[in-house]
Amino acid sequence: MNFNEFNLKKEILRRLEEIGFEKPSPIQEKAIPVILEGRDVVAQAQTGTGKTAAFGLPILSKMQKGEKALVITPTRELAIQVSEEIFRFGKYLGIHTATVYGGSSYARQIKHIENSEFIVATPGRLLDLLKSGRIDIAPKYVILDEADEMLDMGFLDDIKEIFKFVPSDRQTLLFSATMPAPIKELAKTILKNPEFITITKKQVTNENIKEYFYVIDENERKDALIRLIDYKNPSKSIVFCRTKKDVDDIADFLSGAGFDAKGLHGDMDQRRREEVIRGFKNDKIEILVATDVAARGLDVNNVTHVFNYHLPLDPESYVHRIGRTGRAGKEGMAISLVTPHEFRALSRIQKISKIVLKEIPTLEDVKSSEIQKIIEKLSTVEPNDKAISIVEELQNEYDLLTIATKFAHMLFNKEADGKEKIGKSINEAKRLIERSKKQNDRGGRNNRNRRYSGRNSRRGRR
Ligand code: AMP
Repeated sequence: MNFNEFNLKKEILRRLEEIGFEKPSPIQEKAIPVILEGRDVVAQAQTGTGKTAAFGLPILSKMQKGEKALVITPTRELAIQVSEEIFRFGKYLGIHTATVYGGSSYARQIKHIENSEFIVATPGRLLDLLKSGRIDIAPKYVILDEADEMLDMGFLDDIKEIFKFVPSDRQTLLFSATMPAPIKELAKTILKNPEFITITKKQVTNENIKEYFYVIDENERKDALIRLIDYKNPSKSIVFCRTKKDVDDIADFLSGAGFDAKGLHGDMDQRRREEVIRGFKNDKIEILVATDVAARGLDVNNVTHVFNYHLPLDPESYVHRIGRTGRAGKEGMAISLVTPHEFRALSRIQKISKIVLKEIPTLEDVKSSEIQKIIEKLSTVEPNDKAISIVEELQNEYDLLTIATKFAHMLFNKEADGKEKIGKSINEAKRLIERSKKQNDRGGRNNRNRRYSGRNSRRGRR
C-alpha cells in the first residue's frame, strides 16, 4: 500500500515523499481512512508503530481554516516530540504547533496556543489554563495519546475534567498501548460510536530486533550487565530499571566503570532531563539509564541495544522498551536479565515475543572477542605517511615490540574484568524454568483439589 492511495492533501503527500515515508505502517493503514471519514477511533498501538502520523496526517488533511486540534499526552517529552513531528508533517500547510506543559512560562504558552492550529499539552497545565479561563479553545479534533500511561500517572480525573471544556461537536481519537478497564470506560464516555483498531500481536513484534535473556542470581545483576556491555560493545544503548533509585545507582555504577552513562527519571528537573536527552541524541552519552516512564515517547534513532536490568512486570512494557531499538529498518538487540523470581513475568513475555535463552559470556569469551575485533580492524587499516614516519622515528628510541605494546595500551586501556563465570548455564537455566513451571502447575492443581474437597465435604454434611 502507498500513501497516495489515501485521500490526503497534496501538501502532505509532497512532504511525506520529502521526509522519506514510503509505505504506511500497519496502524497508519488502518487508522488513516477511518479518521479521514470523520469517525471516532480507539486504537491500540505502541510507541514506534507510527501512531503520531496515524492521527497527525489525516487530521492535518481534514483541518479547515480556523479549526484547532488538541493532543493530550502524559509527559512533556512526548508532548515535545508529538509537536515536532506534527510540525514536520505540516510544513507545506503552514501549520503552527504549540507545546503546553508545566514548568514553562504561562504567557508564552498562551500566546502560542492562540496562534497555533495544533496544541499538544500535558493534562495538568492544560486543565490549569482552562479552569482559570486563561485560554478558550474549541478544538474540532481531540486526541488522547498513550491513555494507559496517563491512567498510570494518575491523570484520569484531570482528563475527564478537561472534556468538560471541549465542545461535544468534535472528532475524538484515543491511542493506548494497553486497554485496562478504566480506559475502556473513559472511551465509552468521551467517544461516539468509535471504530476499534488493534494491531495484532504478530505485527507488534519487530523482526529486526534480536531478543535474548540470561538467567542469573539476584546478586549478579551488576556483574552481568557490565559483562554483557563489555561483550556486545554497544555504541548507543538504554538500560531500563524499575525504580528511580536503581536508575541513579546503575548510572553511577556504569560511570564509575568508565562508560559515558547518564540517568533519566521523573525526579530530575526539566532542564537536566532535556540536557540528558539531548546528550543521548547527539551521541555524547553512550548509555542512557532510565525508568519506563521517563523513557516513554523518547524518540531516538540508532539505539543499538536495549538492556532490561530487571524484567518489566507486564508484556506491554516489554514491547514498549524493546521498541526503542531496531527502528527505521535498522537491526537492534534487546537483552534481559532474569532471576528465578521473574520467571512468571518471563513466561508472559515469552507468549508475545521470540525471546531466546543465552549464556553470559565468560571473561575469556570477552577477551577473545576483543582480539577478534582488533584483528578485523587491523586487516582493513592502510597506514598513512604520518603513521609510517612516526614509527620510523620511534624506532630510534624503542624496539618494535615495545612500540606496539605501548600503542595497544593507549588504545585499549579499558580492561574487562570480573568473575570468570556469571549466571546460569543454558542447561541449569532450563532446569530452573522447568521446575518453576511444574511448581506453578502443581499450585494450580492444589487449588482445584481444595475446591473439590470443599464440595465433597459439603456433600458429606448433607
Ligand atoms: P511513533 O510511533 O509515532 O513514535 O513513530 C515512530 C518513528 O517512526 C518516528 O520516528 C516516525 O517519524 C517514524 N515513522 C512513522 N511512520 C513512518 C512511515 N510510514 N515510514 C517511515 N517512518 C515512519
